[in-house]
Amino acid sequence: MATPDPLMIAPPERAVAAIGGTADRAGPPLSWPLRSVRRWFDTSTTVEIVERREDRIDWLRAAPFVAMHLACLGVILVGVSPVALTVACALYCVRMFALTGFYHRYFSHRAFQTSRAVQFTFALIGASCVQRGPLWWAAHHRQHHRVTDTPSDPHSPGIHGFLWSHVGWFLTPRNFRTDLARVPDLARYPELRVLDRYDTLVPVLLAVALYALGVLLQHIAPQLGTSGGQMLVWGFFVSTIVLFHATVTINSLAHRYGKRRFETKDNSRNNVWLALLTFGEGWHNNHHFFPGSSRQGFRWWEVDLTWYGLKLMAMLGLVRGLKPVPVWVLAKARG
Ligand SMILES: [Zn+2]
Ligand SMILES: [Zn+2]
Repeated sequence: MATPDPLMIAPPERAVAAIGGTADRAGPPLSWPLRSVRRWFDTSTTVEIVERREDRIDWLRAAPFVAMHLACLGVILVGVSPVALTVACALYCVRMFALTGFYHRYFSHRAFQTSRAVQFTFALIGASCVQRGPLWWAAHHRQHHRVTDTPSDPHSPGIHGFLWSHVGWFLTPRNFRTDLARVPDLARYPELRVLDRYDTLVPVLLAVALYALGVLLQHIAPQLGTSGGQMLVWGFFVSTIVLFHATVTINSLAHRYGKRRFETKDNSRNNVWLALLTFGEGWHNNHHFFPGSSRQGFRWWEVDLTWYGLKLMAMLGLVRGLKPVPVWVLAKARG
């Protein structure tokens, strides 16, 4: 029998201590702007905490995010083709499912179980979305549920305004960090910590692979009318930026617009348009009332593509123990 990994059997507190805080591993603090640039590649880079800058946007650190938006304008130069649009749509769908099914319902809420291989596969696909690593994502999301729509919520539109809840909050030094104490159950997996630490690696590899695919298709199937640049711009930049803005509508719009079925303490709403856009996440009032369910559309007519995908994965034996919506929850529903 193989020797068990001590981090796998350690209690949560010990697991976090054993892997070290991110601030203790990378030598003395770097000064701005070096720290910002280095953190593009290695999120464990030691940073000096300057309280007055904690809630201000760090534009240098955020430069790649801005650059990705500008890169979408490349569609003017590269043109468009059906194959490039198909790849962009397919990558939107697969990655949205990885975010909603795994970053959200699995990593953040533990709404079902799966194998370590499937866990890593979807962590990898999630990491390609340029929404940071699974530990960062889950840690911030758990905080959102703990203090929803209070000043401690990282992204409440009612407290901080629309723009801040949509794009501002995660561009600040306070929210760059991953608080491992919030995700001890995930931090015990070394492969997830590596993904979290080098969170730009997977998206860069995806971008390179898409460019290479475009070049290959240009040579072996010129009738498709695509190119390396076209595949890069549509498949990576446009798809990723649309995916990003669709995802964060749940932070900004789903706490403002829609119906409230449950009397939660927050402002969460059920919104069918957002549910369609985000594969089921728009049933956000349902979700805030009972976050532990693997299903967010509580009624049969509440379209929840992620739930259908998870059901299919369960039938194939890839996931198990999908947590249902309890009867007492449905009994409290208004409508
Ligand atoms: Zn919410
Ligand atoms: Zn949630």
